[in-house]
Amino acid sequence: MARRKLIAGNWKMNKNVDEAKALAKELINNVKGVETHDIMIAPTFVCLSEVANIIKGTNISLGAQNMHFEDSGAYTGEVSADMLLSIGVEYVILGHSERRTIFGETDEIINKKIKKAIEKGLIPVFCIGETLEEREAGKADDVVNNQTTKGLAGISEADASKVVIAYEPIWAIGTGKTATPEDADSIHNIIRNTLKSLYSDAFASNMKILYGGSMNENNADELLNKENIDGGLIGGAALVVDKFARIINYVKK
Ligand code: PEP
Repeated sequence: MARRKLIAGNWKMNKNVDEAKALAKELINNVKGVETHDIMIAPTFVCLSEVANIIKGTNISLGAQNMHFEDSGAYTGEVSADMLLSIGVEYVILGHSERRTIFGETDEIINKKIKKAIEKGLIPVFCIGETLEEREAGKADDVVNNQTTKGLAGISEADASKVVIAYEPIWAIGTGKTATPEDADSIHNIIRNTLKSLYSDAFASNMKILYGGSMNENNADELLNKENIDGGLIGGAALVVDKFARIINYVKK
């Protein structure tokens, strides 16, 4: 079955409200005709409402970069799923390697967040990926399989089918180093095999698996044409409208 691609931009901690609005407006103009795949942008929390107003009714969906797993309460600095839904957010990036490594998010925390997002009707973009050390020690497959298994623990097949996975090797994020299209495709296939054993063949072949890690306007065509790569999660290049629009308008081979 053909999986519909998703090209997603993670703006991280960049752009103030005016800059975010300007970028969203420019992007709309550059990707107007795109209908064959989905587009998502994830600005910072403070920009979400304003960007939501700008992209409403266009082919661009709104994502958040994180959320808390509780509904409400004494969690200073946190944001809930309901708050995101109330301003039109559809996707939420969970388990990004920067959340894992800088902010100490564990597989267990990420699992709780994925469960909450599904319960509330947000689409989790669940990030996994190995460090350079792990890759060099030949452990990349084990690490991503372990993260996948723990992140989806206790989630039924029907619920897990609402998740999008993003494979983001940590050594490729923001470094200019990209996994070769063959390498990325092969790890995606390995993730699919893990999904087969966790759920079913049909589930695994329907799962959308994005690649992230220095995807840019020059390497996107090669990556996005690979059989097992169902889109991209893009950081740096998503902040420059020409680059991101070129990725979105990638050339199908
Ligand atoms: C990311 O942080 O999700 C990412 C892939 O960043 P970059 O494209 O800058 O490597």
